[in-house]
Amino acid sequence: MIIQKQYKFYAAHRNEELQDKCRNLHGHRYGIVCHFEVQRTGSYTTLFSEFDDKIGPFLKEYYDHGMLINVSDPLYATLKQHMEIHGDDFKLREFEGPTSVENLAHQLFTEITQMGFDLVRLDVQETDTSVVSYDRNDWERDNEAQVFSKTKPVNAIT
Ligand SMILES: [Zn+2]
Repeated sequence: MIIQKQYKFYAAHRNEELQDKCRNLHGHRYGIVCHFEVQRTGSYTTLFSEFDDKIGPFLKEYYDHGMLINVSDPLYATLKQHMEIHGDDFKLREFEGPTSVENLAHQLFTEITQMGFDLVRLDVQETDTSVVSYDRNDWERDNEAQVFSKTKPVNAIT
């Protein structure tokens, strides 16, 4: 049985490696649809609140109204310096690679799996018209190929 849960967060980012409009600082309302495999053990499987209690607060604390940023992007050093000088405390979600929607999908898949959920598919909507549908096979393939090995591991709420 599959349970679907939807979440959203707002975040800024840029794709510094691209030579188009995505190079500019901009923001998205990221829509997340999680597909969980659950086993029925009675009248209930997993209570929806179990997902909401962990995933909702995690996204709110680490992603929402933050900035996804590649630590190799020169802007990262500039922002860190600004924070030091001016005492600002920006919420920076660090990636050790480009903050593409593919890398975001991989990172979120890892983090939600680390919370102990049996995630089988994750849809990440970046714009009104584009969704990346990322499943367990994609995740395992990426881990094996170490495609996103540069993505910084982060501590999940458990
Ligand atoms: Zn973007």
